[in-house]
Order: sequence, then structure tokens, then C-alpha cells
Amino acid sequence: MIVQKFGGTSMGSQAGLAAVVDIIRSTRDDNAVVVSAMAGTTAKLLRLIDNALAGKAVALARSIKQIKKQHIDTARSQIHDVSELQKVELYIHERLDRLQIFLSAIRTADELAPDLADRVLAVGERLSSRLLVGILHTAGIAAEQVDLETSIPSGYSLADQRFYLTAEKNFARIFRKIIKQKKVPVATGYFGRVPGGMLASVGRGYSDFCAALIAAGLQAERLEIWTDVSGIMTADPRTVSHAKIIDHISFEAAAELAHFGAKVIHPQSIHPATRAGIPVWIKNTFRAADRGTEVTAIVKKLKNPVTAITSKKGITIVNIASYRMLMQYGYLARLFEIFARHKISIDVVSTSEVSVSVAIEDIKHVSKITAELKQFSKVCIKKNKAIVCLVGMGIKHMKGIAGEIFTTLGRAGISVDQISQGASELNVTFIVNEKDADKAVLALHTKFFT
Ligand code: ADP
Ligand code: ASP
Ligand code: MG
Repeated sequence: MIVQKFGGTSMGSQAGLAAVVDIIRSTRDDNAVVVSAMAGTTAKLLRLIDNALAGKAVALARSIKQIKKQHIDTARSQIHDVSELQKVELYIHERLDRLQIFLSAIRTADELAPDLADRVLAVGERLSSRLLVGILHTAGIAAEQVDLETSIPSGYSLADQRFYLTAEKNFARIFRKIIKQKKVPVATGYFGRVPGGMLASVGRGYSDFCAALIAAGLQAERLEIWTDVSGIMTADPRTVSHAKIIDHISFEAAAELAHFGAKVIHPQSIHPATRAGIPVWIKNTFRAADRGTEVTAIVKKLKNPVTAITSKKGITIVNIASYRMLMQYGYLARLFEIFARHKISIDVVSTSEVSVSVAIEDIKHVSKITAELKQFSKVCIKKNKAIVCLVGMGIKHMKGIAGEIFTTLGRAGISVDQISQGASELNVTFIVNEKDADKAVLALHTKFFT
């Protein structure tokens, strides 16, 4: 069995959808499909929540109209069977009417409950999956929409391993039933009410993770992530136009890359696949014949110590120095507890004898954190920073690699703020000013890949 996930970039255009149908048709008949929302829809839905909270009724109506138009126009151009088209249009109208109701509830609530936000988010994948099922029917392919919204039993308060194992089992049961009836299951990449909310617990790009859970539950022979590039590349092709496709990468290296900004896959999506030993392929919907990147548990040692370079912008550095000359017992624990309590995940840490630098992405609670830290430390905030990360097997222990990196950056006139000490064997990570991030990635790519 093969699990195929199609991203927003594949679902977002008529050319993409036509290619998706060809790919599904040309795969053996026991495949299972997972879809993301049409490109741009999730971002619009998130803006709708903000507009609802701010009471901006006109903006709300305008965005809903845009979402409706995009889906109805696509349905009309791709679904030729009149009764199927009617069903799909009815579904789109119904879902968007219900969306209005959720948004009104958000408008009147004092605080945004995570499950209300989730229900808004779910609309994107519900619409795209129904649309694809309609298009597949028109193409003569038997398919069934799988709405995963209520597939996980309630009663879980933590999105932990036990929760996800239950999710995997439930998904597999639903999928097997449909596959037995010789239909292609087309599931929403939004996979139900996750404790804490989908955005906080999993984050954007959750459809990748959903597909990996389904692949693990079904013990699939492979998981294919179909997107708009022909694989994981040595750098983001939008930054480095001559970046090269990586033929084969390890689960760990891919997760590391995803975590530090290579948004081609979701960082957590790798874990269910790793646990189940399922190979993952990243493939290009628009160039299906291209080989793609294979992600597996073990990869033989490669000649180049650097596999890929990535960057993550919008980073804030919190520099914290102890009032005493040296950090006393329990100091770090006290400090990190404050970040944990505010649910802020730390991307990079570096420490010296008297200070700690912490790189974070989420600055929503930074003023509260600063106030708490100031009770026992000196605190200095630096905004508009970026993390640059080089990933490769054993890279950390390569002799002279740090020298080569910093000489290259020095020659390009880029100053480095902070170097991470504690991260894995697989990466060398440092901070630069955000405006220098692309230049740093380009200079390092030229150094290590030409
Ligand atoms: P999808 O809609 O299919 O989920 P995404 O936008 O999430 O697609 O991911 C694909 C994009 O990831 C590519 O268009 C590319 O610009 C970006 N990307 C960032 N870093 C990398 C990388 N190292 N290799 C390939 N693509 C990358
Ligand atoms: N549509 C969602 C997002 O944009 C999920 C996904 O693409 O995987 O984050
Ligand atoms: Mg994605």
C-alpha cells in the first residue's frame, strides 16, 4: 500500500489538480490519499480568525467570498458531471455557512478557544478533499472523502505518543474499509481535535504529519509527499537558484533541516515513519517522472560533509546574564522553566560562564518573560535575527569545518552573533542578522557545493 500526500501547491491550481488525478490513476489500486488545503486557503482562514476577533465584518465577508469563489470556480472547470458538480457546490456552500457560525462564536467569545480555531482551520482540507473526490469521480476513479475531524476519540488531554498511536490505529481502520470497497480514500490532512489545538501542538504543515500517521497505521510500503519541487534540495531553491536535489537523506537529517526552516516537509512528519521503518519519498507533482528524494533510516556516509544549508528568519535573541559573577546552582533550570511555562519553544541555546543566549521564534509573550527574567538577571532582547544551519552526517566533528564556515562568512562581510553548542551531531547552527541570512546561505552553498 502507498500513502500519497498532496500539498497546497499541488491542490491549488487546475494544472496541479489535473496532475494529481494522473498520479493517482497511475498508482496501483490500493493507494490512500491525504490532501492539504488549496494553496493560500489556510492563511486566509487564519486571517479570518484575526478579523473575527477584531470584529472586522467587512473583511470577513470578503475573504469568505474569495474562498468560495476559488473552490466553486475550480469545481466548475474540473467536474463535468452535472449531478456531481451540484453535490460539490452544495458541500462548499454548507461548509462556508457553518464557517460563518464558528466565526460569529469567535467574535462573541472573550478568548479564542483552541478547538474553535481548529474548526476554522479544518475547513480548508474539508473543501479540498471534497473537491478532489468530485474530480476523481469525473475522471472515472471511485473515491471517498475521509473527514478525519472526529476520528480521534475525545478524552485525551495530552498530544503524546499514546494519543498518536490511537490516532494511527483509528485512521488505518477507516482507510482499510474504504480500500476493501475498491475506492481511493481521500483524507483531510487536518486530522481532528488535537489536545491543545492543531496549531499549537503540531503547527502549519500538519498534513505531512497526518499522512505519516496514516502510513504508520497502515504499515504502508512507502509514503509519498507530492509538492512543487523535485525533492529536498541542498538549499531552498527560492534563495539559491542552483540548489541541487538530494537523492537520499536520513530521517534525522531531514527532520533537522525541516526544524531549521526547510519547510518542504513538516519536522514531526518524519517520526511516525521512522518508528514504523517506512521510507518517505518527496516528489514533484508537476514533474512526476523526476526521481525525487528518498528519506530512510540509514544512509551510507557521503563524500560531502554538508548535506544541505537552511535558514529560519524572524528570530529573536534573548540574552540573559546572571547578576552574580557566575551562574549559581539551579540558575539554568529556573530560567528554562520560565520559557516552558509560557509554552515558548527554544530553537538554539548558547551558554558562557556568565550568560545564556536563547533564540526563539514566537515573541508573543516576550515582554512577560523579560519581566520574570529581570527579577534575577540582566536581560537584553535582539530582534530581526535569523538562524543559519548546516546539516550533514558527523558535521560537528569535521576538523576545520567551523574555520571554513566563518572564513567564508567573513569574506562575504557577514558577522556572526551566536554559535550553538548543544545541538545534535548533525548540525552546525549560528545566528546572523536577518538581512544577511540569504547572503550567508548563498555564500556557504557556493563554498560547499561547487
Ligand atoms: P506543499 O504545499 O506541497 O506542502 P510547501 O510550500 O510546504 O509545499 O513546501 C515546498 C516548498 O518548500 C518549495 O516550494 C521550496 O520553496 C521550499 N523549500 C524550502 N527549503 C527547501 C529545501 N531545502 N528543499 C526543497 N524545497 C525547499
Ligand atoms: N494547509 C495546512 C497548512 O498550510 C496544512 C498543510 O499544508 O500541511 O499549514
Ligand atoms: Mg508543506
